[in-house]
Amino acid sequence: MSKKTPFKIQSIVFHSSHGPNSKIPENPSMPQVAFTGRSNAGKSSLINAIVNRKDLVKVSANPGKTKSINLFLLNDHLFLVDLPGFGYAKASKEQKDTMVESIHHYLNSTETLKALFVLCDAKRELPIDEIEMIKTAYVRGMIPVLVRTKVDKLNQKEAIFLKNKMRELTKEYPNLEIVLSSTKSMAGIEDMRKILVDF
Ligand code: GDP
Repeated sequence: MSKKTPFKIQSIVFHSSHGPNSKIPENPSMPQVAFTGRSNAGKSSLINAIVNRKDLVKVSANPGKTKSINLFLLNDHLFLVDLPGFGYAKASKEQKDTMVESIHHYLNSTETLKALFVLCDAKRELPIDEIEMIKTAYVRGMIPVLVRTKVDKLNQKEAIFLKNKMRELTKEYPNLEIVLSSTKSMAGIEDMRKILVDF
């Protein structure tokens, strides 16, 4: 049994917003935990569910619009970092590449980044961009967490298929944390809160 105390949101406040390639403020005593995923992966809904707030992060009425990196101060103790959604379907290849590059720039230049949550819709094959981000997290010594979102949309057969696929993936990446999540059923949300307790 884990001795960890339950994760409590004492406070969560918006801290600052930054352009894609700008230097993000760092404080050695304030670890950063970042969330990334392509547009529509369910990132805004997931962050809101984890911190138990309806609209801390806006659920995209206009997908692909938010290009900034947004920092929130959680419990006066860590920065929760909402990275811009990449790979928006209507963006050009050049725009998508630029967005992915700017996320790698953040991953590679932020010393206090301790964990990276990579979100991917459970119905999709895991794309190469997401795998590359997980690899970067490994190389940089962070904890990578792969979150397969919207699992409520899977039928039983699809759910079994996904679990088998994820089992295969952990053979390749032994320490990869994988969370199957849904903001509808709240599956996996408490698990992600527990991961945040560590920081
Ligand atoms: P973002 O673009 O990654 O921030 O994704 P959003 O949080 O805006 O979600 C995109 C769409 O997916 C919205 O219509 C959400 O209501 C929907 N969505 C998000 N999470 C879930 C989930 O767990 N289950 C289902 N069925 N839909 C979800």
